Amino acid sequence: MKRVFNFSAGPSMLPLSVLERAAAEMTDANGTGQSVMEMSHRSKDYKPIIENAEALLRELMGVPSNYKVLFLQGGGSLQFAMVPLNLGAPNAAGRRRASYVDTGVWASKAAEEAARFMDAKVVASSKDRAYAYIPAAPAPDPQDAFYHITLNNTIVGTKWSKLPETGSVPLVADISSCILSEPLDVSKFGLLYAGAQKNLGPAGLTVVIVREDLIGKAAAETPTMLRYDIHAKEGSMYNTPPCYAIYVLGLVLEWMKASGGVEAMGKRNLEKAAVLYDYLDSSRMFRCPVDKEFRSLMNIPFVNGDAELEGRAVKEAAAADLVNLAGHRLVGGLRASVYNAMPREGVVALVDFLKRFEAANGR
Ligand SMILES: *Cc1c(COP(=O)(O)O)cnc(C)c1O
Repeated sequence: MKRVFNFSAGPSMLPLSVLERAAAEMTDANGTGQSVMEMSHRSKDYKPIIENAEALLRELMGVPSNYKVLFLQGGGSLQFAMVPLNLGAPNAAGRRRASYVDTGVWASKAAEEAARFMDAKVVASSKDRAYAYIPAAPAPDPQDAFYHITLNNTIVGTKWSKLPETGSVPLVADISSCILSEPLDVSKFGLLYAGAQKNLGPAGLTVVIVREDLIGKAAAETPTMLRYDIHAKEGSMYNTPPCYAIYVLGLVLEWMKASGGVEAMGKRNLEKAAVLYDYLDSSRMFRCPVDKEFRSLMNIPFVNGDAELEGRAVKEAAAADLVNLAGHRLVGGLRASVYNAMPREGVVALVDFLKRFEAANGR
């Protein structure tokens, strides 16, 4: 069997033990004589699978009891529309308004989509320096329905080092690329959302965690399938949920719990990221373009500036079983995504490779 270290931004690596367990249960899950893929989502065999996934997510993230956990589809991208449709209720002056902080491509996509449904103001942006930092967050307008941030910026490799204070205005965060990567106080947020394919499991599942009092204010024209109140009332079973992805999520969360939970993940991710950042800070060939204070633990971009050399590094790394290191086309260079399932050995192997490459191509 061959396994590579996969530095893809998503879909990305899953723990080997999770894949092996899913493989072992592929044709006969838990003595049912069926694959989870074949089970009715309303069957007594499937019920404990979705309940286990939700219970573990609540436990590991410390989700307070006044929050709903929803298992939806459509990726982080569909939340760019669902959030404004559901949370963008008119204020006292009858206006639908929200604030967005533009910290990169996903953040600006979220704001653009929201602008289709409401007055979505971009109140701060770090575009002036190619998103290499997180801008100071202006105080929220108390008339706003919510305040949206992208907690970890997958493409440029930044993260909010400190949450903005938004008072009574609900803070909404896209946590697609950092969910469960380190401890997070859910009670500070009105709503959190994440596509599963980066840190939670296979693509096709989107997790939404939303405070109950924010549910039920959807704009009248909101399609049924896009309404949080419907999904909440039906326990994420208004229609067929992504059953198999939810099952794998449960396995990933069991692995995470056995590995020490989110505190241990955070510690491990800090150590892993430090291995690569320490190398980059001492390298004469590559540098990380992000301001130190805002460096992501999950997505680490690095550049040289010579596209030919960068391309060769990506190719030679792949030949050494270190795959998917090409940077996003907007940033160029290389990017290593080191989500929870990337073992420390993978990052060490990458740094060893980069040192060899630098020595061989010294300039
Ligand atoms: C990947 C990503 C998205 C888009 O996710 P999809 O599930 O592909 O829609 C949105 N936001 C962030 C921060 C991401 O990393």
